Amino acid sequence: MAAKEKFIQVAIDVPIDQLFDYLPNDQIIVIGQYVKVPFGRRQIIGIICGISSVTDVPREKLKKIIFVEEEIIFDQTLFKLLHFVSNYYHHPIGQTIMSVVPSRIKQAKGQIRKVDKIYEATTDLTLTWIEELPKRKVRLRRLAYALLLNSIRDSELNLSVSNGRECAKELVSLGVVVAKKWLPETNQPEVSPKLNSQQKDVLSALTEKHDNVAWLIHGITGSGKTEIYLQLLNKFVDKDQSQVLILVPEINLTPQLEARFKLRFPDKVLVTLHSHLSGIERLDNWRKAKSGEAQIVIGTRLAVFTPLPHLKLIIIDEEHDGSFKQHEGLRYHARDVAMMRAKYENIPIVLGTATPSLETWFNAKREYAKYRYLELTHRAVKNAKLPAIHTIPMGDKYGPTLSNIIIDAIQSRIDRQEQVLIFINRRGYAPVLVCSNCAWAANCERCSTRLVVHLKTKRLKCHHCGYDKKIPMQCMDCGNTDLHPLGLGTQKIEECLNQLFPNANILRVDRDTTRTKDALDQLYQRMNKREIDILVGTQMLAKGHDFPHLSLVVVIDADNALYSSDFRAPERLFSQLMQVAGRAGRAEIKGEVLIQTAFPNHPVYEALKVNDFSDFAESLLEERKQMKLSPFSFNALLNVEAKSLDHSVAFSNMALEKANAFKSSVTLYGPVRPVMERLKGFERHQVFLQAKTRTELQNLLKPWIKELRAHPLSNRVKWSIDVDPIEF
Ligand code: ADP
Ligand code: ZN
Ligand code: ZN
Repeated sequence: MAAKEKFIQVAIDVPIDQLFDYLPNDQIIVIGQYVKVPFGRRQIIGIICGISSVTDVPREKLKKIIFVEEEIIFDQTLFKLLHFVSNYYHHPIGQTIMSVVPSRIKQAKGQIRKVDKIYEATTDLTLTWIEELPKRKVRLRRLAYALLLNSIRDSELNLSVSNGRECAKELVSLGVVVAKKWLPETNQPEVSPKLNSQQKDVLSALTEKHDNVAWLIHGITGSGKTEIYLQLLNKFVDKDQSQVLILVPEINLTPQLEARFKLRFPDKVLVTLHSHLSGIERLDNWRKAKSGEAQIVIGTRLAVFTPLPHLKLIIIDEEHDGSFKQHEGLRYHARDVAMMRAKYENIPIVLGTATPSLETWFNAKREYAKYRYLELTHRAVKNAKLPAIHTIPMGDKYGPTLSNIIIDAIQSRIDRQEQVLIFINRRGYAPVLVCSNCAWAANCERCSTRLVVHLKTKRLKCHHCGYDKKIPMQCMDCGNTDLHPLGLGTQKIEECLNQLFPNANILRVDRDTTRTKDALDQLYQRMNKREIDILVGTQMLAKGHDFPHLSLVVVIDADNALYSSDFRAPERLFSQLMQVAGRAGRAEIKGEVLIQTAFPNHPVYEALKVNDFSDFAESLLEERKQMKLSPFSFNALLNVEAKSLDHSVAFSNMALEKANAFKSSVTLYGPVRPVMERLKGFERHQVFLQAKTRTELQNLLKPWIKELRAHPLSNRVKWSIDVDPIEF
């Protein structure tokens, strides 16, 4: 009897929610390997997800796998996680799996790099030995001389002589050189400070249990959370092999964190995973993680899917941060996925933040306390205090943009040679061009938003779609030529400051001026050397770095966030201002924060002034409870976009009707237009779903999405489902 036929189930990057069956070729096949397969007229890369003895596809339609790569990409736990993610976020399985594979592999450029070796001379390599080599072996002689002086890493061989690798091998075969595994230089680890009593309590709680427990460390900025991570890690990575995954919200935070961890663990392999790495670096680091070689992995949200065979602990720093959520393609939340991963792996997970998200707060504080709550209430460095926070009434809108109190406060800092940070949230605060005669303002032609004035280049730009044009000479409505920018953009503030403080060194930074790590490093150096008196910047400065000479933070016009239609806006504003306040007074100088606002008594500012997150969070929770919003309900959002308004409306209505037909208890709202009604030339609609339980929500989503995918209108629009949306 012939051996039973096998069918190989392959995940492929196509928007169809299924695996594809293939016939094996004559290579050995293992689940988790990546393969090249024919698909339509193309040949593409896929991942083997299963081997089955049955198939629904008629035998004659099955095609054969072209080539199997040896490398195994995923293990069983990760597959389980990816299946969960595909199901939960309703993203096709093949696309889910392929979206977490390093791009080099997808481009079939994933050649395995050799383990880094180092070549060392043995005692047999001597000057005489080299002299006796045939004269024509020029390169061999040159490399031998070089090796006599210093050992050379495999990756640097070709710098010493061309074809260095061949020569090195020859020297090895001649017995005068040995190849060893290269290990990073081991410096003495930096000594850890003695923990204060609060930190001690937290650490001892954390080390108590090693199975699946979720912890929340709620600690004010500078309370020593990172120090606790470091000492906790020490207990894990000391054991051979154990791996720890640390997720951080922003790429900008990884270099300093990396440095801090490297100093403490000089003899451990640490890798980072984020989008500033080149494809090949990312692949290398990913492979070090996958092989278990890297014991410490620091990364941004996608790193939650890194294969880690010996994962023993997950840490999520700044858990409240919105950038853990991906807003396109696979719309997952890395914190929530990490929770699931910790559960599957049966390991502890630690969330740390100064301002927990309300969902996390709820899980840690409300009756059934899913997470264990740990608190740090004062700053770790002796005598360092949280800065005093004050609200300052607005300056006259058409007069000076900064109130006199603020101007005086800045001047006093300059006099004392201390530094000032002027914080502007660029989102929504950029200057727009308005007509002084009629109410006309320059709008983007493709989005329902205002164009932003860029004075230096004399252009108007849309910050959503990139549209730009010259600043017009006159009003498009009434012809009036007196057009002026309204609102306080960073450039406008810089100008104003230049006039007020002509002798101060003022530096404006935004995402454009700090795109690279070098630019950021330079900025920190200049700040530390006090070459800058006033730093004007956007939210990217709110987090992370310490500026020891910074004693005043001025927050300008944060009020816009209070008008937001997004129910999470106050929570975000609080956390952002808390973060930025945390920049001041970290060392010995006392810090102060001045918030310029038209609503000094708003609960957000009141809470900030007394640094009371708990009360604030509880009152927000009450509001959410009344309005049945998350975490008191489970939500999903259908986003619809179309070139034509008719299509967008028709699809949304159809979707709503279909959902209603299921007679589920999920409440449906819409279709409504989001605040940004048009974006990049697309008309937009949303349908909002609100359910009492996750199961109820999922039970509706599954069959509903199936119907939407099958509907003919679905090809006329771009649509997506966002489960647990955090922005509207
Ligand atoms: P967080 O992560 O909560 O913002 P960090 O761990 O970065 O806090 O600590 C803030 C500062 O206090 C850092 O400079 C850190 O080196 C220092 N620090 C933390 N814990 C201690 C301690 N127990 N003793 C002395 N300094 C500490
Ligand atoms: Zn006009
Ligand atoms: Zn636009």
